[in-house]
Amino acid sequence: MNNSKIWLSSPHMGGNEQKFVQEAFDANWVAPLGPNVTGFEVDLEQYIQADKFVAALSSGTAALHLGLVLLGVKPGDEVICQSMTFSASANPIAYLGATPVFIDSESETWNMCPIALETAIQDRIAKGKKPKAIIAVHLYGMPYQVDEINAIASTYGIPVLEDSAEALGSTYKGRKCGTFGTLGVLSFNGNKIITTSGGGALVAPDKVLKDKAVFLATQARDNAPHYQHSEIGYNYRLSNICAGIGRGQMEVLDDHIALRRKMHAFYVDLFADIPGVTVFSEPNDTYFSNHWLTAILLNPALTNGVTRETLRLAMEAQNIECRPLWKPMHLQPIFEQYPYYGGTVSETLFNDGLCLPSGSNLTDAERNRITDLVREVFK
Ligand SMILES: *Cc1c(COP(=O)(O)O)cnc(C)c1O
Repeated sequence: MNNSKIWLSSPHMGGNEQKFVQEAFDANWVAPLGPNVTGFEVDLEQYIQADKFVAALSSGTAALHLGLVLLGVKPGDEVICQSMTFSASANPIAYLGATPVFIDSESETWNMCPIALETAIQDRIAKGKKPKAIIAVHLYGMPYQVDEINAIASTYGIPVLEDSAEALGSTYKGRKCGTFGTLGVLSFNGNKIITTSGGGALVAPDKVLKDKAVFLATQARDNAPHYQHSEIGYNYRLSNICAGIGRGQMEVLDDHIALRRKMHAFYVDLFADIPGVTVFSEPNDTYFSNHWLTAILLNPALTNGVTRETLRLAMEAQNIECRPLWKPMHLQPIFEQYPYYGGTVSETLFNDGLCLPSGSNLTDAERNRITDLVREVFK
């Protein structure tokens, strides 16, 4: 039996990536600037629409870091952050010497709970410090409750840094994720819906902010013949080689979203008659997820004792990669001393949830291996 590894999410090339990379070599644009960087930014701007300006950067983490810098976050400030997320959402708060304040999830989209958010803002203000920014995340491609979060942010006049690293191509009320925050963040890491091998982008509302992001991302060089600096800069621009991969990937993005959504439909079908397992899905048609990763939630009281670990280990034994949901930041050793608002929604999701192989490049044979194993575990 073929036992080759089935990955959670692996790079999936479209075909034209090498053509754009070759052009970069032919023109000797082997640098963190050039026609592919500009072309990739235009592709992204046209794709997300909404009249935004995109700065291509070296990673999503760099985009989050620069986003906080542009929002004026300084040492000692407080920054609100969704607790259930990848650590890259929260680490840049620490880079800046600011304090993270973590917020629980709601159970519909698994993202930032608006009620806990408002409680946190009011309590932080009562304690003497108004939070400087809110980092909200569209986990696994599922849009957060955009209207509710934005309403609270505007009531209190706090900017939103929208972490859309997992949600390129997802929409809320027909509008693309990445365009709802004061600033938006995209990632093109190897396991994301499209990849540049490593890369990211900052989505800005106007050209002035985009230019400022590019200025900071290229060492904050003042306009002078010598190297002159009046601000701290970063080396965060995307390479023209990587951007070439990105241009090729943009040609297949919508096809890959359709394939990821097909994987989600496959799991909905597979688990339809298995009691105690629910497949994470859009709450209603306000939400359109790219289904970057399909996740399930197990209720061990109804699954004859099968837990997410039972299933994960059975999958691992067959060389099929699955992973628990993101472990909330307020439960992480490095962040557990910081303030947290909410209940146990994210903790329960972490305990009972599992991400399943979701790549746009899975074969029928691989889906059959997954089907056989799931039927065996739950028989
Ligand atoms: C991947 C990811 C990031 C970081 O992006 P990189 O490009 O890997 O630096 C940030 N936030 C979330 C939610 C992510 O999934």
